Amino acid sequence: MSIEVKEVSKIYGSQKALNEVSFSIKKGEIVGFLGPNGAGKSTMMKIITCFLPQSKGEVKVCGFDVSEDPMEVKKRVGYLPEHNPLYLDMYVREYLGFIAGLHGIKNKKERVAEIVKQVGLQVEQHKPIGALSKGYRQRVGLAQALIHDPEVLILDEPTTGLDPNQIVEIRNLIKSVGKSKTVMMSTHIMQEVEAVCDRVIIVNKGNIVADDSSQNIAVDSSKELVIKVEFGGAINQNELNAISGVTKVQQVEGSVWLIAATEDVRDAVFKFSVANETSVLEMQKVEQSLEDVFKSLTA
Ligand code: ADP
Ligand code: MG
Repeated sequence: MSIEVKEVSKIYGSQKALNEVSFSIKKGEIVGFLGPNGAGKSTMMKIITCFLPQSKGEVKVCGFDVSEDPMEVKKRVGYLPEHNPLYLDMYVREYLGFIAGLHGIKNKKERVAEIVKQVGLQVEQHKPIGALSKGYRQRVGLAQALIHDPEVLILDEPTTGLDPNQIVEIRNLIKSVGKSKTVMMSTHIMQEVEAVCDRVIIVNKGNIVADDSSQNIAVDSSKELVIKVEFGGAINQNELNAISGVTKVQQVEGSVWLIAATEDVRDAVFKFSVANETSVLEMQKVEQSLEDVFKSLTA
């Protein structure tokens, strides 16, 4: 296991930000930590990265306890904090060299050159950080998180505040980095999880409300299966509604219908079309988006 969190609570004064949270993340997984503002995402990530002590519970990273062996944990974790604190007056290479020094990396120059290439900072590498766009500053943030080649990467809302092109670039970068590392990234954007992550942990008001593969979460929590079908010709609404398992039908346009059912009725719909001497031009399951799921889970 790369990350093991057992019954972790965090109390700020009188406010409970995390309530007995438990989950574990296997080596190599890319996990989305999804939740609205104030859910406790940053708090959880600060605890995993040894920036904040938990009030209760146990956290292990690569087998090391964050309270007992913080140095061993920090060696194995790269962290991009929520507001990506950077020294704006420093030059890109100078800053990354400084961070490499903090980690005690010996061949600093070579490592900085390597990481600059990996995150696509070649063109910007000789500029002061303050002169970079938000997207490139995020790359610098990723570079500092990656410089000591950690096994685990913790990214707190890495795409927040970026423009649409920058978002796509940073997501692709995370996906490519994620091929060889364990990644936990927080976000309040459902599409982000669908685009980047294998698995999603949904958190709300300090509690985990769902933990499954991105796909399963979308499918499982749909109480009804919805199928969109285009018939070759006109069909009778009442007859369509009479198919066993069908709960509702709705004509979208012409011979295109939405069919809600309690089970997979695609085979029955196909047989229905044959019996009615028409054809099926197209038939597909309508996926419930994570956004719908999220709304229903955190309402
Ligand atoms: P998220 O990252 O999901 O937006 P946070 O972990 O930042 O959530 O915050 C969770 C809750 O804890 C929020 O209600 C927030 O106001 C509170 N909180 C976070 N940091 C502190 C702090 N240093 N002192 C007091 N309350 C805090
Ligand atoms: Mg946060």
